[in-house]
Amino acid sequence: MLRYSQLSFWEKDSYFNDLDILIIGAGIVGYSAAIELKDKYPDKKILILERGYLPTGASTKNAGFTCFGSGSEILDDLEDQEQDKVVDLIRQRYEGLQILLNRCGKDSIDFIQTGSFEIFKNSDEDVDMFENVMDNQRRLNDIIEEATGIKNNYTKSSNTFGFDNVSNIVKNYGEGQIDTGKMMLKLHQIAVQKGVLTLFGTSLESFEDFENDLVKINTENGAFLTKELIVATNGLSQSLLPDIDLKPARAQVLITKPIPDLFNGTFHYDRGYYYFRNVGNRLLIGGGRNLAFEEETTTDFENTAIITNSLKKLINDVILPNKKIEIEQQWSGIMGVGKSRNPIVRYISEKRNVMVAIRLGGMGVALGSRIGQQIATLFEKKNS
Ligand SMILES: Cc1cc2nc3c(=O)[nH]c(=O)nc-3n(C[C@H](O)[C@H](O)[C@H](O)COP(=O)(O)OP(=O)(O)OC[C@H]3O[C@@H](n4cnc5c(N)ncnc54)[C@H](O)[C@@H]3O)c2cc1C
Repeated sequence: MLRYSQLSFWEKDSYFNDLDILIIGAGIVGYSAAIELKDKYPDKKILILERGYLPTGASTKNAGFTCFGSGSEILDDLEDQEQDKVVDLIRQRYEGLQILLNRCGKDSIDFIQTGSFEIFKNSDEDVDMFENVMDNQRRLNDIIEEATGIKNNYTKSSNTFGFDNVSNIVKNYGEGQIDTGKMMLKLHQIAVQKGVLTLFGTSLESFEDFENDLVKINTENGAFLTKELIVATNGLSQSLLPDIDLKPARAQVLITKPIPDLFNGTFHYDRGYYYFRNVGNRLLIGGGRNLAFEEETTTDFENTAIITNSLKKLINDVILPNKKIEIEQQWSGIMGVGKSRNPIVRYISEKRNVMVAIRLGGMGVALGSRIGQQIATLFEKKNS
């Protein structure tokens, strides 16, 4: 790889000289921030730097659920957070989704509001959990209405899907699905059309304060300067930002070969630890991190036997009993999680020229565009 010192005058001038804003990470957050900032500041030179030849975190790996929270997840959140905070986070996710849909166009990313279904097992624990959701149905629906305007979001549903070993199902009206690959391609195209520069295949190794309020960016190919740095590296942030409450969380996924007469929809199972949906006539299924939390706290892109086997077992025992299913492909991605489910979006340097926007958890599809907007607002406030 050429070092920066070997680049031509033109290369340095086009990409690196007089850089106003450098964004690290070409995920949903990186692209959304670049688009928002370019809309507000068309003359600013904005560069996204991505370590992989493709985005290499979570945004191109995810399951494409446009989710803001199942009934049991929201009840969990209400146990350790005030209701206002819970409403606010749901609102942020929902607003993020609206920004994404308006920006990309529903059809170009295959958005379908299928509703999602929370599936409860036959176990005593799940029956109790279902009853708890139904006992709190009114409160939960009020919360969703306050956050999104959707009325009667959670309703009891029935098992018309042919699932086995299931006691109850609750429908979440507002959720749906997109095509993750189409979303990321579209975000890239929009950013490039607006004049955002993108460079793939270079990692930020460290950054440091430099004279004249500039930030020095150190990469494996050499160093350059920027006026403002935005770190949107989510689950891969630990080495860059060791003092922040964030851990990597690997998530593994399988997709089957085509299955005739497959149902349509998005589903959550076992307190949200598992999720599955149709992708056309294929079944996509992921989850099972709860089986090996420690092992899954990693940035290695691997698939493990313990999780792969649990996903296959779920297909055989519950989702498509008595059907012969062939797995076509498997992969994993890395999320960023912490003690709190709230993302971190703030300036971290004294001079307020380094911002972080990380810890998107498992709902970044909906939330990511809202975080992009928040980044632009913080930047605008600082510069007004
Ligand atoms: C398997 C899986 C399934 C999921 N399913 C869903 C779902 O159905 N619905 C949902 O809402 N959310 C889901 N998520 C979560 C969602 O994908 C994330 O919350 C979201 O993509 C986070 O976006 P981001 O831009 O913050 O981070 P990322 O997409 O991780 O982007 C960070 C980028 O930074 C780059 N980077 C990191 N370090 C450096 C460095 N030092 N230098 C240069 N570049 C760097 C990475 O390569 C990466 O491309 C899922 C996640 C996974 C892994």
